[in-house]
Amino acid sequence: EALDKGLEKTKQNFFSRLGRAIVGKSKVDDEVLDELENILIAADVGVDTTLKIIRRIEARVQRDKYVNTAELNRILREEIAALLAENQTEELNDFELPPRDTPYVMLVVGVNGVGKTTTIGKLAAQFKQKGKKVMLGAADTFRAAAVDQLKMWGERAGVPVVELGMGKDPASVAYEATKRALEEKADLLIIDTAGRLHNKTNLMNELAKIKRTIQKLIPDAPHEVLLVLDGSTGQNAVIQAREFTKVTDVSAIAITKLDGTAKGGVVIGISDEFKIPIKYIGVGEKIEDLQIFNRYEFVDSLFE
Ligand code: GDP
Repeated sequence: EALDKGLEKTKQNFFSRLGRAIVGKSKVDDEVLDELENILIAADVGVDTTLKIIRRIEARVQRDKYVNTAELNRILREEIAALLAENQTEELNDFELPPRDTPYVMLVVGVNGVGKTTTIGKLAAQFKQKGKKVMLGAADTFRAAAVDQLKMWGERAGVPVVELGMGKDPASVAYEATKRALEEKADLLIIDTAGRLHNKTNLMNELAKIKRTIQKLIPDAPHEVLLVLDGSTGQNAVIQAREFTKVTDVSAIAITKLDGTAKGGVVIGISDEFKIPIKYIGVGEKIEDLQIFNRYEFVDSLFE
């Protein structure tokens, strides 16, 4: 399965090290817990979340007096699944949208290079395959390449892209795209936005203006603000999430490039820190490599 393959490196990082930590030991003791702490931190779970997991395992060791190292895998898996369950308030089964009379509007935010355009293209293709009428809005007008790249993905997915060209007011593009989505009775409008984090005030104002403009046509929009993060950057993705959640309300997270990285533990840390549902994960470059995040499948892929 693509997910298993995608998470292979993270899994190896977990298990080969966990295996070495318990070799020749039968009991989970402080030494094993210390090594487990190092392993979780090395997998980019993050310090706070790691300590939370370690404390929970310590509590079980204390309660049960003696915990066999052979059981450590199962316990760790249970604790990670439980932690994810606390924070994944919403869980999708498939690429699906709540039923609506007007288009469902998704605003996509994230810094350049994280895989934002690719994720939008993959989402467009997936929802189209489900029979939805999809439209894209090219409101990242700051970079010429961004508009062109979105158009390329639009062609590939077979969905129209509304654009006014580079340098145009992003809010105007968003307005135009929303108008057309309404006229053409689209089910889903995905709007790409610029992600200039080094200019936070501008970004905040720009996103606020885009939202106000869309709301002139669809008062309860946007229905989703999706933050795209690059999982292969580990703790950098966490820092970006902190910055973006200060700039705008984020309702869902997509974590890309989990294939080819051993830092997949960052998914656990991000879920724990932000309490924002992780809805999608990217495990490769193909359209079907954008997957619905499911906590059970994720944990299974790490531990089986
Ligand atoms: P943007 O600047 O954020 O819009 O980033 P792009 O969408 O252009 O993506 C940057 C690079 O990351 C491209 O080469 C993509 O093919 C690649 N990419 C995006 N998502 C994934 C993923 O899940 N796995 C892998 N391996 N590459 C990805």
